[in-house]
Amino acid sequence: TTAIWWIRRDLRLSDNQSLHSALSQADTVIPVYILDPHLLERNASRRHQFLFRNLQILSERLEKMGCPLVLRQGKPIVELSRLKEECGASIITAEADFSSYARQRDQEVKSELNLELVNGLLIYPPGAAVKADGTPYTVFTPFYNTWLALPLPNDPLPIPDHLPAYPPLSSEALPPSNEIDGFPAGEEQAQRRLDDFLQFSVGDYHNQRDRVDLDGTSLLSPYLRFGLLSPRSAYAQMRPFLDNPQTHDGASKWLNELVWREFYFNIMAAFPFVLHGAFREAMRDIPWRSSPQDLHAWQSGHTGYPLVDAGMRQLAQTGWMHNRARMITASFLTKDLLINWQEGEAWFMQQLLDGDPASNNGGWQWTAGTGTDAAPYFRVFNPVTQSRKFDPQGEYIRTWLPELAAVPDAFIHEPWKMPSELQVKAGVQIGRDYPAPIVDHGFARQRALAAYKK
Ligand code: FAD
Repeated sequence: TTAIWWIRRDLRLSDNQSLHSALSQADTVIPVYILDPHLLERNASRRHQFLFRNLQILSERLEKMGCPLVLRQGKPIVELSRLKEECGASIITAEADFSSYARQRDQEVKSELNLELVNGLLIYPPGAAVKADGTPYTVFTPFYNTWLALPLPNDPLPIPDHLPAYPPLSSEALPPSNEIDGFPAGEEQAQRRLDDFLQFSVGDYHNQRDRVDLDGTSLLSPYLRFGLLSPRSAYAQMRPFLDNPQTHDGASKWLNELVWREFYFNIMAAFPFVLHGAFREAMRDIPWRSSPQDLHAWQSGHTGYPLVDAGMRQLAQTGWMHNRARMITASFLTKDLLINWQEGEAWFMQQLLDGDPASNNGGWQWTAGTGTDAAPYFRVFNPVTQSRKFDPQGEYIRTWLPELAAVPDAFIHEPWKMPSELQVKAGVQIGRDYPAPIVDHGFARQRALAAYKK
């Protein structure tokens, strides 16, 4: 018998439940990746680069194991049916995914072919942590407590020693790709990053994670996004750090963040409409402003608020942004500019290397105050106070806004207050080389409160 291992968001050999299931049910296995035009048409070139690069590495590893990757391009149901004709596979295994598109695609395949969906994208599948009456949680903390009380997941699976291959099948060539700066491809890199984080940083995570000027977080999000690391394996490897009193507080906070990821997947699975609008009914008619000019200033990092602009330029240049900066820039768009969070959601989705519908939507709805367990609408981040608190010396700002590099500490968070002789000295003229604020925060705050109240 032959099984098709249909690879999607599980670009790894270690702890791969889908691959394991294929191996346990068949004599030969065909690893398949389908380039789906529906997904490739999306404007997300950085994620595509990362995907292609990782497919390249996976393909080289599979080649070495004598079980080459088969790459096809087209609609999954069509390509899988064709493959089944070619090789007579009796089963297709894949890791379950939960966006509306993924579920519809898989349903279509399931109705015609023998598709088995297994867990792996999450530590526990959606629906594992629910209220006593079986309904989904919409608030994080009780979800988290129930989640923590679940029996421990099974141990991660090792990389198989041997993959029994099917005779060669035709395969498309992989599109060329480059390494992404700062995010080397491959599951070995993901593992190395996890090792380093656990060894050197997890113990301080709770103290450092909010500081945008420090490397206090794991930077694992793109790897989790593409399944270069299984979250179950990350959880298993971090558990000893929970038990060690010296690292317990940091590890516990980090676990909390991994579970936010699980929470947002549960929300998306239970309430698929969140991808198309506010979770809260009362928040569906906020009188948003339409200002292409302000939207552009935000996207390009030219709002005049240094921390907001630093975050947006970090995103544009690297495809990643610090979580605190994501919250500040998202709050600025929705509250200070009163622009619909869905504009921001779409922009992030286009730019982020870790762009994921569930987490991105969750983060946006949280910040905009329209979501499940959301920040209250009257909580408006002050971009200057946040900047002083989370980038005290302005190092993050200076990294991403070179035009402000020589601005003295006293003015780095509010450069528009700098006297003109100091501007000359710092080599920057506010209003010419760096914008004055495009909106006054005090005024904008009142405007947002009034609009949300309506
Ligand atoms: P760490 O702090 O090391 O956390 C470890 C892992 O936990 C992360 O890799 C991530 O998988 C998960 N995680 C951490 N925080 C969150 C969170 N708040 N929500 C969900 N998962 C979390 N994260 C994405 O993975 N994809 C997105 O598209 C995304 N969009 C966001 C949009 C907004 C507006 C906001 C406020 C947050 C968004 N996040 C998103 C969550 C968070 O900012 C990133 O996961 C985090 O910054 C990634 O960095 P890290 O890997 O160093 O995280």
